[in-house]
Amino acid sequence: FELRNEDLKDLHELGQGNGGSVKKVEHIPTGKFMAKKIVLIDAKPAVRKQILRELQILHDCNSKYIISFWGAFLADPNICICMEFADKGSLDGIYKKIGPIEIDVVGKVAFAVLEGLTYLYDAHRIIHRDIKPSNILFNSEGEVKICDFGVSGELVNSIADTFVGTSTYMSPERIQGSPYSVKSDVWSLGISLIEIALGRFPFSESLSDDSDLSDFEGTLSPARPGSMNSLAALGLPPARKRSSAAATLKKDKRKSKGVSLQGGAMTMSILELLQHIVNEPAPRLTPEGRFPEAEAFVDSCLLKDPDERKTPKDLLNDSWIVYSKTSPVDLKAWASTF
Ligand code: ADP
Ligand code: MG
Repeated sequence: FELRNEDLKDLHELGQGNGGSVKKVEHIPTGKFMAKKIVLIDAKPAVRKQILRELQILHDCNSKYIISFWGAFLADPNICICMEFADKGSLDGIYKKIGPIEIDVVGKVAFAVLEGLTYLYDAHRIIHRDIKPSNILFNSEGEVKICDFGVSGELVNSIADTFVGTSTYMSPERIQGSPYSVKSDVWSLGISLIEIALGRFPFSESLSDDSDLSDFEGTLSPARPGSMNSLAALGLPPARKRSSAAATLKKDKRKSKGVSLQGGAMTMSILELLQHIVNEPAPRLTPEGRFPEAEAFVDSCLLKDPDERKTPKDLLNDSWIVYSKTSPVDLKAWASTF
């Protein structure tokens, strides 16, 4: 059936991210609940139509590890993307509610994300590009599914003057402007697993003391009036021109603390963080050897050289993942505890 905005009843907001918000809605003709992502875009009609065309590939993405796509339409000046509603929300919301997630559950999450990434790449040659806890969703059936993968280059380009595409889950090679590969998603998975297992963003203690992290959650915020509104102001190129990020980072390091910008504390801390990711050893799950197999897996996700890092498909053969696939932890029972 054709999805129409008139048939959708807004229930409540599920969250906000870069360039838009997500609402829980009811599709009145079928009584089905959906998540409606509303993206404010700055683009001409022809480009909007192009975006809708690019999104149609989502109809062919069918896997139990991928959030289903129900349709997309224009609702001037927005594009609305309707998808499967995950009633337990995203993993960031879950750990913020219940605290660090137990390691066997984290193993199930790792397995599901690797399955999802392998499906996207093998069946459609799609690279996710935005793996992070808020894009890993969970439902009361105990299912883990990924969402928000990059199928529309035009959509990314049209979310004007935001920090879209730049996140602190980015791999060192991507920060330095190298092309994306499936292995970049593996890095982001490693960071995400540490975050949900520790119950906090893994780099939070490596930022400088005067950093203002009050509204920093691992993703750069969209432009706000009077605040930093482009990556250029940060010394970083915008998402669509990020190939010279490395050179720009070096230049800014020379200027160092001399850079004074509006919202300076947070801005500097993010720039420092990106430098940290490139220059310092990768974070570890736990340094003390409590979960050797899980730690070894995360270490392999966070190899800084992408040539050494495995692909999602290869990592499905990792011993911790093979164990996690059939481990006895019952995600449906776990879901009923919160
Ligand atoms: P981000 O992923 O950066 O947080 P989004 O705009 O993609 O920003 O999503 C905002 C929030 O909405 C997410 O953090 C997530 O908790 C929630 N959300 C997104 N999609 C769904 C969905 N299909 N089902 C339930 N909750 C969702
Ligand atoms: Mg998202």
